[in-house]
Amino acid sequence: MANDTKRTPWLEKAETIIPRWVKSKGTEFELEYRKRWVLTYWRDIVGDVIAQHVELMGIRKKTLLYYSSSPAWNNEMRLLMPQIVDKMNRFAGCEIIREVRLTHRWEKPEAGDVLAFRAWLRQEDSKVPDFRKEREQTLLTSEEEDSAKALSASSADDDLGNLLGQIYRKNLQLRKVKSQHGWVPCSDCGTLTEPKPKPALCPACRSKRAANLRAAIRQVLIDMPWARPPEVAEYVPGATPKLVSEQRALLVQKLAAEVDVNDKTSLKAMQLVMLYRVLPPSQLTEDAVDRALYALRFDLHRPKDYVAPKRYSVIKRGKEGEAARKTLSPGAKAFDKK
Ligand SMILES: [Zn+2]
Repeated sequence: MANDTKRTPWLEKAETIIPRWVKSKGTEFELEYRKRWVLTYWRDIVGDVIAQHVELMGIRKKTLLYYSSSPAWNNEMRLLMPQIVDKMNRFAGCEIIREVRLTHRWEKPEAGDVLAFRAWLRQEDSKVPDFRKEREQTLLTSEEEDSAKALSASSADDDLGNLLGQIYRKNLQLRKVKSQHGWVPCSDCGTLTEPKPKPALCPACRSKRAANLRAAIRQVLIDMPWARPPEVAEYVPGATPKLVSEQRALLVQKLAAEVDVNDKTSLKAMQLVMLYRVLPPSQLTEDAVDRALYALRFDLHRPKDYVAPKRYSVIKRGKEGEAARKTLSPGAKAFDKK
């Protein structure tokens, strides 16, 4: 209670030292670190009275989740929400939460526990490529040693302090070893990473870029379902034929589930046929629509008692078939010539 003032200085000091090496590990790690940091020091941030009645569980999508068995305290938390959000974010040094909400009691809360923070740090630390021998032989400057010591001393919890100091030292050494191995900063976030393949990207940023690329391909296919890989690549550099066909298949599945099996005219049904057969609107003949939707019949949305029709009751033959190949499907008229 009274030692709130005593606590604050070291916390602020630690906050200024830690982010330097935390930042070097990438934005995702940094955010997670700040979250854990805030969760661990809940009691210091809100004070003993609140901490006694309100148990913090964790953070999900910018919502701070807590448990309290007392209706009076739930009410209190609602009233205090603006202040708590503000305090937590200021402590974290960035926006980590927007609201505070009651939840059930978790089996393993992620909050308020120095042990959990230490366990998480150790686990993260063990993911780092090791270079152990070289690292252990790497000397730090006296300045670097001093900042590691300052970091250790900055925590009220000795074990956590030592661990922070250790990891900090290890990171400094690792940075040196990685540079010696020709590692370069990740083009997106600056974390030291292997120089090849180019562009140099850390694993986290590489997968983020890949996800963005796939999303961009899907967007082109939604706008122009008839686009072939070279056309997609005009809009999305890096879109390979393989990626385009993967994303096309994915969209076909998704769209098919939304189109009713008896639907041959809706906008969605037409988009589905164009996407599946790579057809422009001008080629959406009755025959093309019938055949494509017949081929997709098992993927389409079906009523419970649906019995699949026989092939030739759907696909027309002879003169009828010829006509169907020449007639534009009624649904195709929804697409103006653009
Ligand atoms: Zn990166």
